Amino acid sequence: MKKINLLIYGATGSIGDSVLSIVRKHRERFNVVGMTCDKNIKKLSTLSNEFDTKNIGIATYNKDLDYKKYFPDKKIYFTLSEFHELIYKDVDIIILAISGASILSLSLEIVKSGRIVGLANKECIVSLGNILLDTAKLHKTKIIPLDSEHNSIYQLLNNNKHSVRTITITATGGPFLNKKLDDFKNIKVEEAINHPVWNMGEKISVDSATMVNKGLEVIEAKYLFDLEVNKINVLVHPQAIIHGFITCKDNSIFSFMSYPDMQIPISNLLFPNKDVNFDDLYLDLAKIQTLNFYDINEKKFPAIKYAKEVVSIGGLAPNGLNYANEKLVNLFLNKKINFLDIVNFNIATMDKFFAKNSNIEKPTIEDIFNFNKWIDENIYLGD
Ligand code: NDP
Ligand code: MG
Repeated sequence: MKKINLLIYGATGSIGDSVLSIVRKHRERFNVVGMTCDKNIKKLSTLSNEFDTKNIGIATYNKDLDYKKYFPDKKIYFTLSEFHELIYKDVDIIILAISGASILSLSLEIVKSGRIVGLANKECIVSLGNILLDTAKLHKTKIIPLDSEHNSIYQLLNNNKHSVRTITITATGGPFLNKKLDDFKNIKVEEAINHPVWNMGEKISVDSATMVNKGLEVIEAKYLFDLEVNKINVLVHPQAIIHGFITCKDNSIFSFMSYPDMQIPISNLLFPNKDVNFDDLYLDLAKIQTLNFYDINEKKFPAIKYAKEVVSIGGLAPNGLNYANEKLVNLFLNKKINFLDIVNFNIATMDKFFAKNSNIEKPTIEDIFNFNKWIDENIYLGD
């Protein structure tokens, strides 16, 4: 059997780790023909040697480094502007697991490839919306969402021809589900990146703590599944055993359960027939015993309601939420603003924009970049 050729953008991150730990056990089935990082070249060097990967992408170029020492026999593509060249190295499956919105242009190139794309990066779906999905359709590129909730809804919708009333994505509630709102302003970076269930990169961990992540996921679901936002529900479920469910017109429910490990959604991409043994991910429900569900406390976590309003505004707004959020999360990680400011300043920035500017209903990518420039110059950071 011909091996499946993989290209992994963001191979050195947390999703990259999960992908490679599956590939490591199934070398007979997969080649890794390309992998990228931002700055972590030591890890990329080790991985590219382990998987005998010939094509390397490095986003941040440092003129003082001797790259040939780390990658003696590899072809290296430097900076994001060259990353798209990796697509054309006889690739079957592309995994986009770079974090953040700096990859908007790259994501558009990827969905023009006609390949199968495992899409972990939710920021590009939120920012580009239909631009991304329509381009993929036009070029017959199959997008498989790797975000666990969306992957579960994707599988449920594919396996059910029933009339769907709503879909529901679950949320663990993050590290501050039970913390008092009064204590939110003193939350420290180390607490915010310490997720109770998932081990993820810093940016998405902070997003989970503010629940902006779930807000982004509502927008992600709207575009991926072409649904009205009022058909997308969020339910807090701290155990993260049910990742998503669809409710049919007759109010019967199909849910997707698994051990909370990103190898499960990734296996839907790499082993679509589920012919893979993950013995260590056996779900022992008798041991778990209890599954809890709660509504969102909107006073503590206004981000989901805000994201729903943003989707209803449409046009430039989802990108604005996403782009401003990334800047604010970085400021929080660098201890320049406090935890509550992340969402409050985001809302204030969008209010400021829409007070003076009108929306563009169907923005082009240039409109989106112009809006980002406006945010760079005008982001609200307090009076
Ligand atoms: P990590 O921070 O762990 O990894 C990010 C990866 O992207 C690393 O390889 C990093 O390289 C690279 N990278 C970061 N910034 C840039 C840049 N500007 N240009 C090029 N490469 C860059 O993130 P995660 O793996 O946790 O998340 C990746 C994406 O998947 C995110 O969009 C996230 O929302 C999504 N996702 C993640 C989940 C998870 O469980 N982790 C679950 C659902 C979605 P380097 O190592 O050199 O810094
Ligand atoms: Mg998710």
